[in-house]
Amino acid sequence: MTKDPNNMTCQEFQALMPELIGSGENASAHPHMQSCALCRALLADLETIAEAARQLFPVVDPPEHLWEQIESAIKHEGDPGRG
Ligand SMILES: [Zn+2]
Repeated sequence: MTKDPNNMTCQEFQALMPELIGSGENASAHPHMQSCALCRALLADLETIAEAARQLFPVVDPPEHLWEQIESAIKHEGDPGRG
C-alpha cells in the first residue's frame, strides 16, 4: 500500500521527518510542508537542534540514537491530548 504524500497526517509526517533529515532529503520540499504551518515550525526547531548537534559532534553520519531522541521529543510535543 502506497502512501499519498499529499494526504499524510501530521503524525505520519512527523514520524518520517527524522528519516528525511537523516538521509539528507530536503524535508522542507515535502508536499506536507506546503500546507502545514505546524510541521514547518517543527522542522525549523528540528533543524536548529540538528545544527547544534552537528557543531557539538562534527561527524558525517549522526548517530542513530540522536534521531531517536529528536523523534521522541517530537512525539512528546505532538501529544494530541492537549490542544
Ligand atoms: Zn503537519
